[in-house]
Amino acid sequence: MINDNFEKPIYLAHDHMNRLEDFARDAKGGVSAKILHLTVDGWINAPSKKEYLKTYYSYEGFYDRYLLALNQLHKVIANNSDQIKLVTSYRDLQDAGSEKVLAVILGNEGGKIVGESGENLNTLFDLGVRHIQLNWSMKNCLSASQSEENTRQDTGLSDLGRNMIERMNELGMIVDVSHSSPETISDVLDVTSKPILNSHSGSRVIANKQQNLWDEQIRQLSENGGILAIHFCSRLVLGVDDRQSTIPDVISQIKYVKNKGGIDLIGLGPDWILGDTKRDEKYMHNTEQETITWTKCLEDSSRIKNLIPQLQLAGFSEHEIDRILYLNLQRFFKAVLPS
Ligand SMILES: [Zn+2]
Repeated sequence: MINDNFEKPIYLAHDHMNRLEDFARDAKGGVSAKILHLTVDGWINAPSKKEYLKTYYSYEGFYDRYLLALNQLHKVIANNSDQIKLVTSYRDLQDAGSEKVLAVILGNEGGKIVGESGENLNTLFDLGVRHIQLNWSMKNCLSASQSEENTRQDTGLSDLGRNMIERMNELGMIVDVSHSSPETISDVLDVTSKPILNSHSGSRVIANKQQNLWDEQIRQLSENGGILAIHFCSRLVLGVDDRQSTIPDVISQIKYVKNKGGIDLIGLGPDWILGDTKRDEKYMHNTEQETITWTKCLEDSSRIKNLIPQLQLAGFSEHEIDRILYLNLQRFFKAVLPS
């Protein structure tokens, strides 16, 4: 039986949408909580490609741009506190749920914001940051990224990276290994005392892109009690660059990951980044992603509920659907965030 039960919470592990109109779309779609990846480890909206490339491997400006973005976010939240709440603990997340407001967990796609010696980590925690994805598309002082896979540059976690993970475990910050190299992911699994996140990924057997995981990696992440949140970006769902994926394609990814790692591993990591004309143009040009698309009928958060009837049609039970939509991430947040 298919029903339109929109009363379920929906949690997202990877999203970049941080403007008031984006939060309105979240509300329309029934999103209850999301990890907001406020900036990226590349200056994606740099005024020119030259400036984007100049800072590709440097730390110049990344912490400052994060603070600026955070300041803007605070203003949006302060003016809309009846709809949005910045959550810094599991208790906050529960409160946001009972108040029926969108819970925003502050995060970042890349570790450059901690600084070259990790000097900013404690301050970031004090400012409410509860999540850091170690890498974006390049190596940094913490770890090697997917781009270094199968090269001599893939040296996994650095000593600083190890220290940062131990400290993040102590503080109650989410460690995210999306975009990290296989060596890095393996090292993080050895070091961490808490479950870890892969916030936007999928099966590499289905879609052979470096961001996706091989079966053995899926199994290891499952043993760690971690989360693999499924990406909605077409090329990562399908493994090819020239087609738009559909919801059944996303469900094929979910089924495959469930078969290899179990239902408890799965979350949603859409990675929406488009929808801000000014920013998008620079991002797509600077990073050469002019052809990027998201899954048809899942193009933005207002459409997220389109997934539910198709999961029902594909034979997922209500309890399995609840786990995918929020229960697994809820368990994960409880295990990792400050209580
Ligand atoms: Zn990404």
